[in-house]
Amino acid sequence: MKLIGLSGTTISITEELEGTTASRHYTDGILQAGGLPVLIPYGYESNQVQEICDRIDALILTGGEDVNPAFYGEDPIGAIGTVNPERDDLEFRLVTAMMERKKPILGICRGIQVLNVVLGGSLYQDIPKQVRGAISHRQKGPRGYLSHRVAVAAGSKLSEIVGSQEIWVNSFHHQSVKELAPHFIVSATTSDGVIEAIELPKYPFLLGVQWHPENLWQKNESAALLFRALVEAAG
Ligand code: MN
Repeated sequence: MKLIGLSGTTISITEELEGTTASRHYTDGILQAGGLPVLIPYGYESNQVQEICDRIDALILTGGEDVNPAFYGEDPIGAIGTVNPERDDLEFRLVTAMMERKKPILGICRGIQVLNVVLGGSLYQDIPKQVRGAISHRQKGPRGYLSHRVAVAAGSKLSEIVGSQEIWVNSFHHQSVKELAPHFIVSATTSDGVIEAIELPKYPFLLGVQWHPENLWQKNESAALLFRALVEAAG
């Protein structure tokens, strides 16, 4: 079975209970798709990042904190969220090492933002402050509730995976792709023009989505298909 690496976020419950964690929604999503999830904790040295990327067959960049805007040449605005430098550092090295190996990457929420920034793009630091006329991208209600539509670009890898030009998704983000990184294409947008998915054509599988399929796959076919497509691409 294919090993699917997962980046995680910092958890600190007590002094004794702190470290790296990723929600079970992701790991169950990988399991149901036929892959074996492997959490990649903080603390890897560069040679160890190379070794873990030799072993895993694909990578999921999970949701979480804001990317440090210094990486795209901006000072932080007042509405910036929490930044996690240790996580930025590990995920940037993971993306680079996976791409050297032409292995599949799926970026989820923060993950699409990481992919865009690592490859030379930039972000809106805060959609409500910076995108005029934006719809609500921070839904109020259960995480599995489908709050807005996205238009899927014809001919994109994403449209091939979900088999539709329009899907409904959930939305829990205050940032989004601003300047697209070189060589990427936009594979989905909302009615306000916010970029909801990007991909790198000519690369075996490198896709970022701004929504949270890990909270949807249980009931939503297009979300389940994303996990399955990643595990298939890992093979
Ligand atoms: Mn959204």
